[in-house]
Amino acid sequence: MFKILKKSKKDRARLGKICTNHGDFQTPIFMPPGTQASVKAIGPDDLSKIGVEILLVNTLHLALQPGENLIYDLGGIHSFMNWSGPILSDSGGFQAWSFGQNRTKSGKNMAKIREDGIEFSSPIDGTKHFITPEKSIEIQHKLGVDIIMAFDECSPDNDDKEYAKKSMNRTHKWALRSLKKHQELSKQYQNQDKKPPLIFGIIQGGIFEDLRKESTKFITSLDFDGIALGGETIGYNMPRTLEILDYLQDLLPENKPRYTMGLGSSAQDIIEVVKRGVDMFDCVAPTRTARHGSLYTAQGNIRISNSQFKKDIQPIEENCDCYTCQNFSRAYLNHLYSVKEPLYLRLASIHNLRFMMRLIHKLRNEI
Ligand SMILES: [Zn+2]
Repeated sequence: MFKILKKSKKDRARLGKICTNHGDFQTPIFMPPGTQASVKAIGPDDLSKIGVEILLVNTLHLALQPGENLIYDLGGIHSFMNWSGPILSDSGGFQAWSFGQNRTKSGKNMAKIREDGIEFSSPIDGTKHFITPEKSIEIQHKLGVDIIMAFDECSPDNDDKEYAKKSMNRTHKWALRSLKKHQELSKQYQNQDKKPPLIFGIIQGGIFEDLRKESTKFITSLDFDGIALGGETIGYNMPRTLEILDYLQDLLPENKPRYTMGLGSSAQDIIEVVKRGVDMFDCVAPTRTARHGSLYTAQGNIRISNSQFKKDIQPIEENCDCYTCQNFSRAYLNHLYSVKEPLYLRLASIHNLRFMMRLIHKLRNEI
């Protein structure tokens, strides 16, 4: 499952390996989100060439459309999207909360959190749905992914302490229910070639040190294969994320992979958490910013729409080995972006994702 191959002598970084039903991958690892069973604008052949080792899919999006039963009937998520490597799914807790957030201008979240689950409206047609820990685990098993997440309530930063505590306790109850359902469903794998997916628990507790510590003690006491840090603040407010990692470091078990959810909007963010012993992260930023014209380089992001690139025959980055930099100039990308050609989306996404994977390899080599 998880093995530490090497530990850094200068900080808490670790080089590790995770074994799954669809192959092994090394950590630290960046996981590009493929929300709708697709990493926007790029196919599995590109992803393999970029060196992507594991993808993330969003449970609620796929449950709403095309539905987990259809994916199950068609042989599971791997054959459906033709990706043979490992896949991790989120639990839907954050997405249910986020759908509620998107639907209101007042700042009030429209998702209804109940003791037994979350009621939310579909962003597709407004229909009401109710998701419980059991339902989330069942959907994730049906998708056939390699790593599943316990169902949790994402703790927003503006919660008062009383609510944050109530929410954390609910997440703990949901963690127990998720684990119970997972163990029940895992029995069906007994006569199959493949093993049940790995399951990760999620630490919540908002921005409060005592609650974060309490949540860490509780979640790490359960039989999870990996430990994730969740909540609005993680990856979104980096100074606070680092503070949380610093005071939790002695409470996190050495022998389990650690995952900061939604973190990775810049190279520096990843460098900082790897130093603090984090093994896994995911973020939509590299592909999203690429689509919006911002391309990563070691000297900072460049805006490809800038007129200075109109006649620039250099690649995005001189020493980049990606397909885009090996074959196309900044001038051509500037043109594709200006005329809104779909090819731009693919070429830009390839470069930014390769940038992230090169960073990951560099960090692994330095451990
Ligand atoms: Zn490149």
